[in-house]
Amino acid sequence: MMNLNKDKFITELQGGLRELNISYSSEQIEQLWEYYVFFINENKKYNLSAITEMKEVITKHFLDSVVILSQIELKNVKRWVDIGTGAGFPGLVLKLFLPGHSFYLVDSSSKKVNFLNQLIYKLNLNGINAVHGRAEDLAKELDWRASFDLVTSRAVASLNVLAEYTVPFLRIGGSAFLYKGPEYLEEIDEAKNALKTLGAELKETIELDVPGLNAERYLIILEKIEKTPPKYPRRPGIPNKRPL
Ligand code: SAH
Repeated sequence: MMNLNKDKFITELQGGLRELNISYSSEQIEQLWEYYVFFINENKKYNLSAITEMKEVITKHFLDSVVILSQIELKNVKRWVDIGTGAGFPGLVLKLFLPGHSFYLVDSSSKKVNFLNQLIYKLNLNGINAVHGRAEDLAKELDWRASFDLVTSRAVASLNVLAEYTVPFLRIGGSAFLYKGPEYLEEIDEAKNALKTLGAELKETIELDVPGLNAERYLIILEKIEKTPPKYPRRPGIPNKRPL
C-alpha cells in the first residue's frame, strides 16, 4: 500500500468544506478518507481516473462534487440518479452528505460499477444502488422513466447529448444539475432544439467556485416542464452519433 498522509488529507478536505460552508461530521470525513484510499488502490487495477494526486482528488473530485449542495432547494427532493458516475462523481460523494436521500449511480462500464459496489459495501451505505447499464436503455424502463426528482451528471457528454441521457429520467418539475466547463455557453446554444424536443427548459446557469481549483466551473440547471415523448432517448449510441 502507498504511504498515504491522513492528517494532510483531513486538513485539506475540512478547509475546503468550510470554505464552501458545508457542515460535516467526523463520520463523513472518515468515509471520504476510506473512499480516497480505496480509490487510489483500485485505480491501478481499474484505471478509474487520471486524477490521483491527493490535493487534486480532494478539489477535482470531492469538492467539485459537493459544491452544488448550496445551490439546491432540497425540499421535495428525495430520489436522485447520477448518469455516467464513473468512480462515483458526483453521486456517491453527494450521498455521503445526504444520507437520507435515495441515490442511483449509473455507468455503462462494469468495472466502474464493480468498484462502486465494493465501496458501497465497505462504507456500509444504505439507500444507494450502483447499476450497470446505459442511460438510453434504463430511461425506457418503467421503474426508471420519469421517476426521479433530480438527475446529476459530470463529464459525460455535451449538453445536447446529455439532455437526451438525463431528462427522460425526471418527473415533471424535476431538475437536471449538469456540471460543465468554460464551453457551457456554446453548449447551451447547441442544445436549444434538444431541450424543446425532450420537454425541458434551461432554468439557470451558475458559476461555481471550487476551493483550491483553478478552473472555470459552471452548473447548468434544467427543469422538466413536459412529458418526454416516448421515442426518446433513442437507441444506445444514437444520441451521441446524431445529437438532437
Ligand atoms: N462522472 C464521472 C465520470 C466521467 S467519465 C466524473 O466526473 O469523474 C464518463 C463516464 O460516463 C464513463 O465512466 C462512462 O462509462 C460513462 N458513460 C458514457 N456514456 C454513458 C451512457 N450512455 N450511459 C451510461 N454511462 C455512460
